[in-house]
Amino acid sequence: MTAAATLARARADGVTLALDPAGKLKVRGTDAAVARWLPEVRAHKPALLAILSGTGPAPAGEPADPATNWRWLISPADGCRFSLSSTPPATRAEVEALHPGALVDLEPSPAPVAPHHLEQAAAILEPVPTPTPALVTCRTCGHWRRDQVGDGSGLGRCLASAPASFKPGSCWPRGEIVCREHQGVTE
Ligand code: SF4
Repeated sequence: MTAAATLARARADGVTLALDPAGKLKVRGTDAAVARWLPEVRAHKPALLAILSGTGPAPAGEPADPATNWRWLISPADGCRFSLSSTPPATRAEVEALHPGALVDLEPSPAPVAPHHLEQAAAILEPVPTPTPALVTCRTCGHWRRDQVGDGSGLGRCLASAPASFKPGSCWPRGEIVCREHQGVTE
Protein backbone atom coordinates (compact mmCIF):
# COMPACT_ATOMS: atom_id res chain seq x y z
CA MET A 1 0.00 0.00 0.00
CA THR A 2 1.31 3.47 -0.82
CA ALA A 3 1.58 6.30 1.66
CA ALA A 4 -1.29 8.07 -0.07
CA ALA A 5 -3.49 5.00 0.17
CA THR A 6 -2.53 4.55 3.80
CA LEU A 7 -3.57 8.11 4.53
CA ALA A 8 -6.91 7.73 2.75
CA ARG A 9 -7.82 4.30 4.08
CA ALA A 10 -6.76 5.06 7.62
CA ARG A 11 -8.94 8.16 7.51
CA ALA A 12 -11.87 6.11 6.25
CA ASP A 13 -11.24 3.73 9.16
CA GLY A 14 -11.50 6.59 11.64
CA VAL A 15 -7.77 7.17 12.08
CA THR A 16 -6.52 10.71 11.61
CA LEU A 17 -2.93 11.41 10.68
CA ALA A 18 -1.70 14.93 11.30
CA LEU A 19 1.39 16.88 12.26
CA ASP A 20 1.68 18.48 15.67
CA PRO A 21 3.13 22.00 15.98
CA ALA A 22 6.60 20.48 16.28
CA GLY A 23 6.13 18.69 12.97
CA LYS A 24 5.82 15.24 14.47
CA LEU A 25 3.39 12.72 13.11
CA LYS A 26 0.36 12.16 15.34
CA VAL A 27 -2.01 9.26 14.90
CA ARG A 28 -5.44 9.64 16.44
CA GLY A 29 -8.31 7.22 16.66
CA THR A 30 -9.60 4.41 18.80
CA ASP A 31 -6.96 2.12 20.27
CA ALA A 32 -8.05 -0.74 18.04
CA ALA A 33 -8.05 1.36 14.87
CA VAL A 34 -4.68 2.93 15.67
CA ALA A 35 -3.23 -0.52 16.35
CA ARG A 36 -4.51 -1.67 12.95
CA TRP A 37 -2.81 1.17 11.11
CA LEU A 38 0.42 1.66 13.03
CA PRO A 39 2.44 -0.88 11.02
CA GLU A 40 1.48 0.83 7.74
CA VAL A 41 2.04 4.27 9.20
CA ARG A 42 5.51 3.29 10.39
CA ALA A 43 6.32 1.73 7.03
CA HIS A 44 5.46 4.99 5.23
CA LYS A 45 6.43 7.50 7.87
CA PRO A 46 8.84 9.60 5.75
CA ALA A 47 6.39 9.79 2.86
CA LEU A 48 3.48 10.58 5.18
CA LEU A 49 5.47 13.37 6.81
CA ALA A 50 6.22 14.77 3.36
CA ILE A 51 2.58 14.64 2.31
CA LEU A 52 1.23 16.16 5.50
CA SER A 53 3.85 18.89 5.61
CA GLY A 54 3.18 19.81 2.02
CA THR A 55 6.74 19.07 1.00
CA GLY A 56 5.77 15.91 -0.81
CA PRO A 57 3.31 15.23 -3.59
CA ALA A 58 -0.34 15.37 -2.62
CA PRO A 59 -1.89 11.92 -2.74
CA ALA A 60 -3.50 11.32 -6.11
CA GLY A 61 -7.25 11.67 -5.83
CA GLU A 62 -7.10 12.77 -2.21
CA PRO A 63 -7.39 16.29 -0.85
CA ALA A 64 -4.09 17.88 0.08
CA ASP A 65 -5.57 19.06 3.38
CA PRO A 66 -6.24 16.00 5.56
CA ALA A 67 -8.91 17.92 7.48
CA THR A 68 -11.05 17.90 4.35
CA ASN A 69 -12.62 15.16 2.31
CA TRP A 70 -14.27 14.71 -1.07
CA ARG A 71 -16.93 12.30 0.12
CA TRP A 72 -19.17 12.41 3.17
CA LEU A 73 -22.03 10.27 4.40
CA ILE A 74 -24.99 12.29 5.62
CA SER A 75 -27.59 10.75 7.98
CA PRO A 76 -30.46 13.17 8.62
CA ALA A 77 -32.88 12.61 11.49
CA ASP A 78 -35.53 11.17 9.15
CA GLY A 79 -33.55 7.94 8.88
CA CYS A 80 -32.40 8.25 5.29
CA ARG A 81 -28.73 8.23 4.39
CA PHE A 82 -26.96 9.61 1.41
CA SER A 83 -23.53 10.31 0.04
CA LEU A 84 -22.32 13.84 -0.53
CA SER A 85 -19.56 14.63 -2.96
CA SER A 86 -17.83 17.92 -2.35
CA THR A 87 -15.60 19.75 -4.80
CA PRO A 88 -13.44 21.31 -3.53
CA PRO A 89 -13.11 18.96 -0.56
CA ALA A 90 -14.97 20.18 2.52
CA THR A 91 -14.34 20.00 6.24
CA ARG A 92 -16.73 18.20 8.55
CA ALA A 93 -17.83 21.55 9.99
CA GLU A 94 -18.70 22.84 6.52
CA VAL A 95 -20.76 19.75 5.75
CA GLU A 96 -22.50 19.89 9.13
CA ALA A 97 -23.39 23.51 8.47
CA LEU A 98 -25.01 22.47 5.18
CA HIS A 99 -27.00 19.69 6.88
CA PRO A 100 -27.88 20.88 10.39
CA GLY A 101 -29.01 18.10 12.71
CA ALA A 102 -27.63 15.34 10.48
CA LEU A 103 -24.87 12.94 11.44
CA VAL A 104 -21.87 13.48 9.20
CA ASP A 105 -19.32 10.73 8.64
CA LEU A 106 -16.43 10.23 6.30
CA GLU A 107 -17.46 8.01 3.44
CA PRO A 108 -15.18 4.98 3.46
CA SER A 109 -13.10 4.39 0.41
CA PRO A 110 -14.27 1.41 -1.60
CA ALA A 111 -12.69 -1.77 -0.38
CA PRO A 112 -10.22 -3.37 -2.77
CA VAL A 113 -11.87 -5.88 -5.05
CA ALA A 114 -11.31 -9.39 -3.74
CA PRO A 115 -9.50 -11.75 -6.12
CA HIS A 116 -12.44 -14.16 -6.22
CA HIS A 117 -14.74 -11.31 -7.27
CA LEU A 118 -12.36 -10.47 -10.09
CA GLU A 119 -12.47 -14.09 -11.19
CA GLN A 120 -16.28 -14.03 -11.12
CA ALA A 121 -16.34 -10.83 -13.16
CA ALA A 122 -13.92 -12.31 -15.67
CA ALA A 123 -16.08 -15.42 -15.97
CA ILE A 124 -19.21 -13.32 -16.53
CA LEU A 125 -17.50 -11.11 -19.10
CA GLU A 126 -15.94 -14.00 -20.96
CA PRO A 127 -17.72 -14.18 -24.30
CA VAL A 128 -20.20 -16.99 -24.53
CA PRO A 129 -19.36 -19.09 -27.58
CA THR A 130 -22.03 -18.78 -30.21
CA PRO A 131 -23.27 -22.20 -31.20
CA THR A 132 -22.91 -22.99 -34.85
CA PRO A 133 -26.45 -22.99 -36.27
CA ALA A 134 -27.59 -26.31 -37.58
CA LEU A 135 -28.12 -26.64 -41.30
CA VAL A 136 -31.39 -28.12 -42.49
CA THR A 137 -33.00 -28.84 -45.83
CA CYS A 138 -36.48 -27.77 -46.80
CA ARG A 139 -37.07 -31.28 -48.09
CA THR A 140 -37.14 -32.51 -44.51
CA CYS A 141 -39.52 -29.78 -43.30
CA GLY A 142 -43.25 -30.11 -42.73
CA HIS A 143 -43.76 -26.61 -44.12
CA TRP A 144 -42.27 -27.47 -47.50
CA ARG A 145 -44.29 -28.36 -50.58
CA ARG A 146 -42.41 -29.96 -53.38
CA ASP A 147 -42.34 -28.67 -56.94
CA GLN A 148 -45.51 -29.83 -58.60
CA VAL A 149 -43.89 -29.81 -62.03
CA GLY A 150 -41.66 -32.61 -63.24
CA ASP A 151 -40.06 -35.02 -60.84
CA GLY A 152 -40.20 -32.71 -57.80
CA SER A 153 -36.51 -31.90 -57.80
CA GLY A 154 -37.20 -28.24 -58.67
CA LEU A 155 -37.95 -25.25 -56.51
CA GLY A 156 -40.70 -25.90 -54.01
CA ARG A 157 -42.37 -23.46 -51.66
CA CYS A 158 -42.56 -22.71 -47.99
CA LEU A 159 -46.11 -22.75 -46.62
CA ALA A 160 -44.93 -20.92 -43.48
CA SER A 161 -43.34 -18.06 -45.44
CA ALA A 162 -40.47 -18.42 -43.02
CA PRO A 163 -37.86 -15.61 -43.20
CA ALA A 164 -35.33 -18.18 -44.33
CA SER A 165 -37.51 -19.07 -47.29
CA PHE A 166 -36.50 -15.76 -48.91
CA LYS A 167 -32.80 -16.50 -48.67
CA PRO A 168 -30.64 -18.17 -51.29
CA GLY A 169 -30.75 -21.94 -51.20
CA SER A 170 -34.14 -22.20 -49.55
CA CYS A 171 -37.06 -24.14 -50.94
CA TRP A 172 -34.77 -26.28 -53.07
CA PRO A 173 -35.14 -29.84 -51.89
CA ARG A 174 -31.49 -30.33 -51.01
CA GLY A 175 -30.34 -26.79 -50.39
CA GLU A 176 -28.84 -26.49 -46.92
CA ILE A 177 -30.02 -23.45 -44.98
CA VAL A 178 -30.40 -22.17 -41.45
CA CYS A 179 -34.08 -21.91 -40.57
CA ARG A 180 -35.56 -21.44 -37.10
CA GLU A 181 -39.00 -22.49 -38.40
CA HIS A 182 -37.82 -25.81 -39.72
CA GLN A 183 -40.34 -28.43 -38.75
CA GLY A 184 -38.68 -31.75 -39.03
CA VAL A 185 -40.42 -34.63 -40.71
CA THR A 186 -39.21 -38.08 -41.55
CA GLU A 187 -38.32 -38.40 -45.17
S1 SF4 B 1 -37.80 -22.23 -45.34
FE1 SF4 B 1 -37.75 -23.19 -43.33
S2 SF4 B 1 -39.86 -23.44 -42.73
FE2 SF4 B 1 -39.84 -23.04 -44.91
S3 SF4 B 1 -39.80 -25.01 -45.83
FE3 SF4 B 1 -37.69 -24.42 -45.66
S4 SF4 B 1 -37.02 -25.22 -43.72
FE4 SF4 B 1 -39.25 -25.30 -43.70
